[in-house]
Amino acid sequence: MIDFSFTPKTLKAKKTAREGAEYLKSISRYYDDHEHEEVKPEEINRMKEDSANTNKIMAEPGPNDGGFLTMVVLNEEQSSGDPMLGGAASNMGLGNAAIGAVATPDQKARFGHLYCAMAITEPGFGSDTAAVSTTAKLDTATNEWILNGEKIFVTAGKRCEAVVVWATVDKSKGRAAIKSFVVEKFRKGITLTKLEHKLGIRASDTASILLEDCRIPFDNILGSPEVKAAKGGQVGAFATFDATRPIVASMALGVARAALDFTKGKLEEAGITFPYDRGIHSLSAVQKEILDMEANLDAARLLVWQSAAMLDKALRNSLESSMGKSKAGRAATLICQRCVALLGPLGYSRELLAEKWMRDCKINDIFEGTGQIQMLIVCRQILGFTRDQLK
Ligand SMILES: Cc1cc2nc3c(=O)[nH]c(=O)nc-3n(C[C@H](O)[C@H](O)[C@H](O)COP(=O)(O)OP(=O)(O)OC[C@H]3O[C@@H](n4cnc5c(N)ncnc54)[C@H](O)[C@@H]3O)c2cc1C
Repeated sequence: MIDFSFTPKTLKAKKTAREGAEYLKSISRYYDDHEHEEVKPEEINRMKEDSANTNKIMAEPGPNDGGFLTMVVLNEEQSSGDPMLGGAASNMGLGNAAIGAVATPDQKARFGHLYCAMAITEPGFGSDTAAVSTTAKLDTATNEWILNGEKIFVTAGKRCEAVVVWATVDKSKGRAAIKSFVVEKFRKGITLTKLEHKLGIRASDTASILLEDCRIPFDNILGSPEVKAAKGGQVGAFATFDATRPIVASMALGVARAALDFTKGKLEEAGITFPYDRGIHSLSAVQKEILDMEANLDAARLLVWQSAAMLDKALRNSLESSMGKSKAGRAATLICQRCVALLGPLGYSRELLAEKWMRDCKINDIFEGTGQIQMLIVCRQILGFTRDQLK
């Protein structure tokens, strides 16, 4: 039985994170307009202060709700200000979630403080993650991994301090041989080759990265170097999806909530009320639509929280994390689109953030597995099909 009545500590941290999000919101249009511009030092300092305040609360004595559950709750708050700006200040990239999920205590101490991006996608594939062609070869003389390959569309690939790179240790052994490696940016042989110009999440950089005989210590591999076939669970690097998908999903929740709260507020200013105790037959189309969107967002949030809570309890959550990601990605995309429409011409104008939220939230239905791929995973697991039986 999972109970989502949070501890006073989480509630306090959530409130503090929400206040910090208002600051992010106030500077987010600037970085949307100035893609790839470095965030100003005084703004980074302010964001760092806000995130330190939240961390201080979480470090206070008293019961915790769990690491991942708290992370998704706070990430939703932060993302409601801007889905990307806070990451650099709080050192939280997708790579950090992977490290949090599978790293040893020693690795957490070495890498936990670094801002880590995640590099899976290559020129030859996106959704078909089993097609990883970047290689990691062990040099037994020096006990180092040598990485070679090209990664594209790496979120925060420029701003991050390290990249969690997916590479195969033996191409002939398929998915089980795909492992993840922490590559610090100071290593020789890792080069940033391109920055993308994007539709949304323009406050983040999206980079291409080349690995040419890039040597890293043996202990930079996350999880076991052993290549073992799976018995039902996720194998090798794939296990990190169980941790990163709830984080991406919580980003979608934050953006959609910002759009919905803003739109509802504007409608209330125009005299529209939102009664929760009236029958559907007596509601106007606008009232019904807002209440429907709220219900949709709540349903997505509960799925995401469930997937994170399971992770904290060391329960297998692959099904739930895909359900949460697919529901949150889709709900957020639809909510943000409808908010733009309900706000009328102003919704489409750059005067408000509504059009930005609509552009920003689309990515949540694309990266860390598209909505279609999440549905495939869910269907396979519920129907008991293998990857070969349902592709
Ligand atoms: C802004 C941005 C940031 C990104 N950040 C990162 C990052 O940090 N790290 C990283 O590794 N990658 C990142 N990516 C890459 C992202 O994960 C991929 O774009 C995504 O996995 C989809 O891959 P693809 O673009 O090659 O699409 P494809 O795999 O070519 O898919 C194209 C379309 O076909 C659908 N499709 C594919 N296979 C199936 C199937 N079997 N059944 C039904 N439909 C299917 C897909 O859902 C999609 O709609 C980022 C991408 C973007 C745009």
